[in-house]
Amino acid sequence: MIEVKQLNKSFKELDVLFDINHTFQEGKTTVIIGASGSGKSTLLRCINRLETPTSGQITFQGEVLDESNIQSVRKQMGMVFQNFNLFSNMKVSDNVGYALSVVKQLDPTTIRAIVEQQLQTVGLIDKIDVYPKTLSGGQKQRVAIARCLAMQPEVFLFDEPTSSLDPEMVGEVLDVMRNITKQGFTNIIVTHEMGFAKEVADEVIFMYQGRIWEHGSKESFFGQPQTMEAKAFLEKIL
Ligand code: ADP
Ligand code: MG
Repeated sequence: MIEVKQLNKSFKELDVLFDINHTFQEGKTTVIIGASGSGKSTLLRCINRLETPTSGQITFQGEVLDESNIQSVRKQMGMVFQNFNLFSNMKVSDNVGYALSVVKQLDPTTIRAIVEQQLQTVGLIDKIDVYPKTLSGGQKQRVAIARCLAMQPEVFLFDEPTSSLDPEMVGEVLDVMRNITKQGFTNIIVTHEMGFAKEVADEVIFMYQGRIWEHGSKESFFGQPQTMEAKAFLEKIL
């Protein structure tokens, strides 16, 4: 369980997140939607401490996140980015295995077995020995997901994982994500794919101008959005 309490975040004089309070339930999938600039990425990045909150508190399984536990917490949270963030100078096998070596310090044989297993999971075992530049966007993103899976995190943070893909590649990445949502991880997914959100979300958060403007079950949110801003957003995007 991830509990966010009275979280505020500013970049210099720009206030970006205002009084965010939310409990992300263990083993559930929360989808975050909202217009560009509403603070979705910043919220995710505060949760795994790629950004330091200006004030407020985030707890993960009862432990308050701070500078002292940042490394152990990150081991338990895998993040998938819009632009994949693969290492271009490393083969697919090393992209997936790198953290197993430097963070978990596993031996090469064990690493190879995990890498093979996770590339099977995302349907890319035949790409194990190639470099990322030879892959399509959809394939790169599936490698990035395999890299997260290899670390066996408890939490998956997805930040618009399909936004930079050509339309014909969105489906293959959503298929892999759909499987992940069935496996008991705690998932927080920022996406504009509303069909997918309606399918996998246990809870939907709508962000507006740095605030959680509205949240609820997918049935209540998509069926009966409560605020003008959420209605306007959904009308625009659907
Ligand atoms: P979203 O993901 O919903 O599009 P972001 O969290 O990326 O929104 O951004 C929210 C606001 O914070 C935007 O105005 C953005 O320009 C600003 N912002 C995000 N990251 C930084 C940063 N590192 N430095 C300064 N401003 C930032
Ligand atoms: Mg963003």
